[in-house]
Amino acid sequence: MYDILVVGGGTAGLTAAIYARRAGRTVLVLESTGFGGQITASHLVENYPGIPAVSGLDYSDALLKQAKDLGAETKFAQVTGAEQIPGGFRLTAGKKEFEGKALILATGAKHRTLGLPQEEELVGRGVSYCAVCDGAFFKDKDTAVAGGGDSALQSALFLSGVAKSVALIHRRDTFRAQAAYVEAAKTKANITFVMDSNVTALEGENTLNAITLTDKSGGSKTIPVEGLFIEVGQIPDNGPFAQLAELDGGGYFAAGEDCRTKTPGVFVAGDCRSKELRQLTTAAADGSVAATAACQWLDER
Ligand code: NAP
Repeated sequence: MYDILVVGGGTAGLTAAIYARRAGRTVLVLESTGFGGQITASHLVENYPGIPAVSGLDYSDALLKQAKDLGAETKFAQVTGAEQIPGGFRLTAGKKEFEGKALILATGAKHRTLGLPQEEELVGRGVSYCAVCDGAFFKDKDTAVAGGGDSALQSALFLSGVAKSVALIHRRDTFRAQAAYVEAAKTKANITFVMDSNVTALEGENTLNAITLTDKSGGSKTIPVEGLFIEVGQIPDNGPFAQLAELDGGGYFAAGEDCRTKTPGVFVAGDCRSKELRQLTTAAADGSVAATAACQWLDER
């Protein structure tokens, strides 16, 4: 039985592992898809204090190495169940089971889809949720980005350096994204702003060749694009842990800044938690708070 099991190998989970290892605890971090979490898809991170500019991949590689060098164990596993057992908790991942005295849930969030007909079928055939991963396939092609947050603006900026054109489609007339990203996008000649509009249809048999846009007044037009990057936010996937940690109306863990849940010994950290600002800084902060609280709880029990 490990001292601490961490579910999720993004910034929050790996920071928790670093703090727990430095407190002398045994730690296993379980990750379902790729260590590093969502920031691996950011081509440039410019708002992490003390690091003026770093790619998301370089940042997360360094973070994973730091956790491992300190002795954190890591494993790929899709955790589908969690239960309390005498002396701790058991996590289930397929046929595998992992046991720990304390649990830190740092499960992050996954991409929200637009829910359009054909959206799923066209993933990898023109539809993508990651410009940094797939942008290179659209060299000198017409593309579009849907969304108005930091991810959408970052994707548009990244694509402007690769694609022929980028239509940035946002459902409102003001952006949620940081002003610095919006201003940077305005300087790119190949980014067009399409405001007050939604993507309402995807055209193409086997590969995307056009999208239909519908504006606030109901008017619609179809524009030819070979790539559509959907960046309309995230949704949490906390269902398997709902018995241990309460969820809010949006499906995020309903825990405060102390990262504690209704279950003694269960802590939550990062984007999966109910909070105002989901950033690397707040994920790292949560990881350190949750791990410190877990270590104190282990000392006191
Ligand atoms: P987000 O901030 O939640 O923005 C999602 C955007 O998608 C919003 O503009 C939203 O429109 C739009 N949207 C949501 N559902 C939609 C739908 N069904 N149809 C059309 N548009 C829809 O998500 P995010 O950009 O992925 O960012 C997530 C978090 O990560 C944020 O806290 C962000 O600051 C952070 N982040 C930070 C960085 C960085 O600092 N370098 C980079 C990436 C992300 P409305 O504005 O109208 O709601």
